Amino acid sequence: MITPNYIPAHLSSDVGPWPNELWTKELASAARDVKTLIDAVQLDHAKLPFPVDTTAQFPLLAPPSFIARMSRGNANDPLLKQVLPTLQEHDVSPGFMPDPLAETDPARGFIKAPSLLQKYQGRALLITTPGCAINCRYCFRREFPYTEHRPKNHQDALAAIAADASISEIILSGGDPLLLSDTQLSQLLTAIESIAHIQRIRIHSRIPIVLPERLTHALMKTLSNRRCQMVMVVHSNHPQELNATTARALDCLKQSGTTLLNQSVLLRSINDDVRTLVELSEKLFAQGVLPYYLHLTDHVAGTEHFFVADDEAKAIYAQLQGQLPGYLLPKLVREQPGEASKTLMY
Ligand SMILES: *Cc1c(COP(=O)(O)O)cnc(C)c1O
Ligand code: SF4
Repeated sequence: MITPNYIPAHLSSDVGPWPNELWTKELASAARDVKTLIDAVQLDHAKLPFPVDTTAQFPLLAPPSFIARMSRGNANDPLLKQVLPTLQEHDVSPGFMPDPLAETDPARGFIKAPSLLQKYQGRALLITTPGCAINCRYCFRREFPYTEHRPKNHQDALAAIAADASISEIILSGGDPLLLSDTQLSQLLTAIESIAHIQRIRIHSRIPIVLPERLTHALMKTLSNRRCQMVMVVHSNHPQELNATTARALDCLKQSGTTLLNQSVLLRSINDDVRTLVELSEKLFAQGVLPYYLHLTDHVAGTEHFFVADDEAKAIYAQLQGQLPGYLLPKLVREQPGEASKTLMY
């Protein structure tokens, strides 16, 4: 049951999965340049309060359903800011690097096979596809060498997983794993499940939030009745991202028996205030999702205008803790190179 005020009454009968072909069409009609996006949100290019970057190397990509949730005529819209390239991305400060985590540096030993990354005990991460359905300006994976980790199949990775009985959970990551076709995803899940010591398969995906039309009957079927327990960690940063379409997509996932969690990134001038984060947690839960992580950004070059300093983050978090029941409080974490897990920051 979803809190009625998060689903407009006129949509309440509009439940269940979307038709199969729709999502690829939606993705094909995503905004891929600044002008299209600026026009769509009814802003005047000449009057923007900040300089946009029309030639960004990490291209603009925003699907129609996500754009529909942006306010019109507001250059500071929290959803717009997540996808609009600005010249601030060229600012470089000391300590900010293209790839601070150096996950793929062979010397660190995290790469167990092409496309298989293991940093933590008991769980390993499989890179399934390089693309996403949206390009988030703060993304720390933008420098990831996907071409080296895009095997035609995951044979070596699967062999490495099969050979290591200490691994009980596989995380499908990317890019976004839900950009795989239902057939590709189904074959991959089946291959992973054929390894007896794998108990859980976790999918990290922003697609239920940004391209809800991906939730087709075929996808629900693919996720349903599996030997392994299925977990999906979606990615929403702001309550304005959650509306009737996300409620419908998340409900489809729930019906497929998938446990739903959310990770957010703490982003300057987007969600770095208590009221927004409280509303995000409450709205996520109303749509059947438990808050999991609130990430502090890494020192990734080009993203420092989103950076929230540790002290400030901890002050926000302390207030958040005072306003939410414990089960709606995400863990405040940062990824620190060389640590055996994400680091709890509070
Ligand atoms: C974040 C991450 C995980 C997942 O960590 P959890 O704390 O289990 O959510 C696993 N592998 C890699 C490489 C990661 O970066
Ligand atoms: S969906 Fe995730 S991986 Fe893709 S661009 Fe956004 S933050 Fe990066």
